[in-house]
Amino acid sequence: LVRRMREFGETIFAEMSALAVRTGAINLGQGFPDESGPEAMLRHAADAILAGDNQYPPGPGVPELREAVAGQRRARYGLEYDPATEVFVTVGATEGIAAALLGLAEPGDEVIVFEPYYDSYAAMIAMAGAVRRTVTLRPDQGRFTFDPDELRAAVTPRTKLIMVNSPHNPTGTVFTRAELEEIAAVCREHDLVAITDEVYEYLTFDDVEHISLATLPGMRERTVVISSTGKTFSVTGWKTGWVCAPAPFVNAVRTVAQFVTFTASAPYQRATAYALREEGAWVENLRKSLQSKRDRLISGLEAAGFATLRPQGTYFVQADIRPLGFADGLELARALPERAGVVAIPTQVFYDHAEAGAHFVRFAFCKREDVIDAAVERLHRLA
Ligand code: PMP
Ligand code: GLN
Repeated sequence: LVRRMREFGETIFAEMSALAVRTGAINLGQGFPDESGPEAMLRHAADAILAGDNQYPPGPGVPELREAVAGQRRARYGLEYDPATEVFVTVGATEGIAAALLGLAEPGDEVIVFEPYYDSYAAMIAMAGAVRRTVTLRPDQGRFTFDPDELRAAVTPRTKLIMVNSPHNPTGTVFTRAELEEIAAVCREHDLVAITDEVYEYLTFDDVEHISLATLPGMRERTVVISSTGKTFSVTGWKTGWVCAPAPFVNAVRTVAQFVTFTASAPYQRATAYALREEGAWVENLRKSLQSKRDRLISGLEAAGFATLRPQGTYFVQADIRPLGFADGLELARALPERAGVVAIPTQVFYDHAEAGAHFVRFAFCKREDVIDAAVERLHRLA
């Protein structure tokens, strides 16, 4: 294995899902829903396969999906993207993240990431030969947030990019307009490009609204927006995503992506285009149902002795393990399947400064209510 990848072992998601299968534990680790999304969308994919839509689609994606994505960005965020030159279809958000980093970061460039970070960011920054600089999110008044001074201090003359994931995995924070303004100001001042990972763009709770960084003054022209179909439509196995950005950035993404995957799966693209146009009401129901599952899991975790932070978005709750007498979330997560028959994700693996997240584990609530209830009942064994 090349030196630059040696710090990366197996991803925590693979390790913990394998542990769940091996032990028969309830998997509240890896974030995937246990119900598939809108039936008419599933039928579109099945029909596309049976109708023969099974050969290579165009490299940038089928025009119908690029148009649907442009329509969604316009309707939801008031931003115009040219489907021909400013929208590009990828194999999930993961390929978008990879291609954006490989196409935009030179070896030695610095990339700012908020920690805890989604694990592919660190791996792809390393593959690009770039250097990550972390800004730590810390709990403050019930949600994880950052210190603007720490963000400013992370910028150096070598900084090229900043990765912004909101709604944020794994903390559940949705950045406020004020927080995004801080980020935007730093980008404008230091001429940085922002890569925004918006895969949870629809999954916000209570009255919290997701704001796309690209809508802030001076940001559309320096932002690479990434999203995908997996979370919005409960089909994480479809691996269909997209990038929206000014043409020079899309060119950079395309130049890399054409040699990584060449193109993404055909039948899911048409089905996703249909869903983006027609299934808004379904997504709104998903959002409401996830909000009530969030509250159900939080009540259960609190009753089992954890202290929790109520996430504003995503699939995930952060649970503080100290009230139960534990200190190390990684140790607890590895023991949890045997001790309680439940799998969770240790938050510390998403930090460079692991101590900042040592006492948290992440539980997913994108599961049926009976699954959540059964997991909570088992977790009472920890007390
Ligand atoms: N970014 C974040 C923050 C995620 O949680 C995930 C997992 N869904 C991804 C990217 C990857 O998305 P996809 O499955 O579309 O590649
Ligand atoms: N995004 C999901 C999570 O955070 C799954 C990630 C993965 O399996 N790579 O749990």
